[in-house]
Amino acid sequence: MKIGEEEVWVTGGLGLTTADLPQGNDLAGILRQNANYGCRTCEVFKENLTEIDYDIKKHGRYHHLTDNYFDYLHQLHDIPSLQTAFAKEHGLCIKPNVLDQLFRDRHTQTPQDAFHAVAGLGGRLLNITLESFTRDGEAKFLTFAICSKAVFAELMADNDYVRLDATLQYLSIDLLKVFPEEFSNLPNLHVLRHLSEHARRFGNLINASVSLKEMVHRIYKSYVPHTNKKNVELDFIKRENTLQSLRYLIDRGLHNHIQINGKIKSLFDGWYLTSQVYSNEDIEEDQENNFTSPSSNYINIKVRSKWNKQKIQENGFSGRKLDENMVSDISWTYDNYFGQQAAVAHYNINFYQHLSFTIIDDDMIIEENIKLQAGDVVEIEGKEDNDDIENEKWFARIQAIFVH
Ligand SMILES: [Zn+2]
Repeated sequence: MKIGEEEVWVTGGLGLTTADLPQGNDLAGILRQNANYGCRTCEVFKENLTEIDYDIKKHGRYHHLTDNYFDYLHQLHDIPSLQTAFAKEHGLCIKPNVLDQLFRDRHTQTPQDAFHAVAGLGGRLLNITLESFTRDGEAKFLTFAICSKAVFAELMADNDYVRLDATLQYLSIDLLKVFPEEFSNLPNLHVLRHLSEHARRFGNLINASVSLKEMVHRIYKSYVPHTNKKNVELDFIKRENTLQSLRYLIDRGLHNHIQINGKIKSLFDGWYLTSQVYSNEDIEEDQENNFTSPSSNYINIKVRSKWNKQKIQENGFSGRKLDENMVSDISWTYDNYFGQQAAVAHYNINFYQHLSFTIIDDDMIIEENIKLQAGDVVEIEGKEDNDDIENEKWFARIQAIFVH
């Protein structure tokens, strides 16, 4: 698409898939967490899930290696017993999933969900503590609270990722020491080992949080009853398009090269207070505005509030035609200001009350949306051939604004 004067390529792609533990594994093509190898981020055996010394990096799942597994799995298609055995050995789903047709990294783009992992652990810890009322349980809750704060931090710097990993490991060691039966080989506890890496990849863990997606899902769901349910996908797309466009405009993304309805355009043109109220008619008229200046430094030229015949005559003009004096003035202007020898071919003109334009220099905006109107007094440069050379700044009153 064209943005400004530049042709740019716009592409879309999958950023990340957020899903709770079992569904996330499905989407990554990995068996669910009760399988022998049921972690979608590494190849941990189910009995080593919470082994603190387990080497995450060494046993990590990597997309290109998993691709090789799947290729081999495919080759075993005719020998189901071998295929199932191989799938089991690496915790792979034999059936492809909906995302498999997309270009993506099934492991890094389906991160573990911090919210479900941590909330699950918290619930379990709370139950044990309430049941036993041990002092140990209370102390663990303090550690747990510190961890939760670290996991859901919005701002994270380099040190924080390292600290997060250390804090979570400390919590794991603690929990396993005090409640070995309840926490040994618990998938949620294992997930903590992957969180710092996910946080580093996506900035923080909130960005990859399933709870955010669940909120979006709720918003969409609440919209369905307002449609006729005939083509919900299309209605969603239309709605999303409208909302994103409004968001774009509110973020001041308005550009001269994008054609939009004149009313919306004036709404998002920038906020200002004015005693002048433009009628709808003026704004409709504005849509026909498509003037260019002989100088490329003046862009976005717009006029508003067309003068009627009475107003034209009140201001000392005969009508909507250039007279001899005006033609010679225009020729002089082209020559003097723009260095162009121009002949005036069309004599029909229109007068307006308001004029606005933007001044640029090499695509840099010098002054945006300058507004002038008939009757305004403006400063202009003095003419060089004038005797009074000292007087470089002159003032002029805008007598009329016309377009030819
Ligand atoms: Zn893992």
